[in-house]
Amino acid sequence: MDGAGFRIGHHGRLAGAAAQLGSGAGGRSRHDHSHPRALPTGVSSPNSGYVGRFAPSPTGALHFGSLVAALGSWLDARQHDGEWLLRVEDLDPPREVPGAARQQLATLSAFGLHPDREVIWQSQRSERYAEVLQGLVQQDLAFACSCSRSDLADFGQAHRCCVRPFDPNHHAIRLRVADVTLSIEDRLRGVLQQWPGRDSGDFVLRRADGPFAYQLAVVVDDADQGVSDVVRGADLLDSCARQVLLYQSLGWTPPRYMHLPLVVDAQGRKLSKSSAAVPVDADDPVPALTAAWRVLGQAPEAAPRNGSANAWLRAVLPHFDWRRIGQGEFLDRSLTDPPPSHESVTQSEDNDQIN
Ligand SMILES: [Zn+2]
Repeated sequence: MDGAGFRIGHHGRLAGAAAQLGSGAGGRSRHDHSHPRALPTGVSSPNSGYVGRFAPSPTGALHFGSLVAALGSWLDARQHDGEWLLRVEDLDPPREVPGAARQQLATLSAFGLHPDREVIWQSQRSERYAEVLQGLVQQDLAFACSCSRSDLADFGQAHRCCVRPFDPNHHAIRLRVADVTLSIEDRLRGVLQQWPGRDSGDFVLRRADGPFAYQLAVVVDDADQGVSDVVRGADLLDSCARQVLLYQSLGWTPPRYMHLPLVVDAQGRKLSKSSAAVPVDADDPVPALTAAWRVLGQAPEAAPRNGSANAWLRAVLPHFDWRRIGQGEFLDRSLTDPPPSHESVTQSEDNDQIN
């Protein structure tokens, strides 16, 4: 772990956080798009330049794994004198549980995690996504394609060229992805290399059945909200390369990234189907906050055992040290290795569907 280049209290983004293309980027101009469209800022916006966020999907009650991501991003933002935003990733109505988004926001509020600006709902941002997508298509950086998942089965779901004739009545929009090695800097994990051309190929920005893809929405929203630092779970590490490619295609600067440990059990297994997936108790926040604090590798003695959520947060904030996160027993280090091609694709598809 090499965090020497990052300091608490920095101003703005560090150049080192921007991923670089490892090989030919093609001859096209990447800077013809409009700038990110700034969304309204908070009334008392701090001037540190740090803007962080938490972006849950409303697929159920807020569970412990999500609380870890919410708390980690909140602590990092607050300690940088930054803003902390909330965004609801409600792009895919069939996957949503009615009322879950409001319930999640209420739970976060009960845990003392209050956003500094109005909550953004992705379901209300379609016009903006369409506008950005149109710009990419007009520049031939994205294209329409009728290939289905079954068409791509023989290629590990990676799209490298169209294998089905174009059908104007049923097509997705994909980003063109060159065969490049991307170097991505993660504050905890250092420089990671990913191979999006091999792993995902040309990936979907808008699905054939209509919804905009998570990868497009998250990049447009983070850019429009001026997010400087993405702090989120390591389950999204795999989609980082595609998001950085999208930033590059748009001529925009990617944020800094810090992917938090997955919550794993003593045998190193992800707890997605057991305790990490259990909803947290909004009526009794301190035990869950304390457990999340421990998963983040922080000093146990700094966490009060009782009191209100707000008092708990005030007490721990001065003791938060992001450098300790990577030293926790829960860090899933296997993710720092190059992902085997097939597994990586499987994870990507999951992310597309879930997020
Ligand atoms: Zn195709």
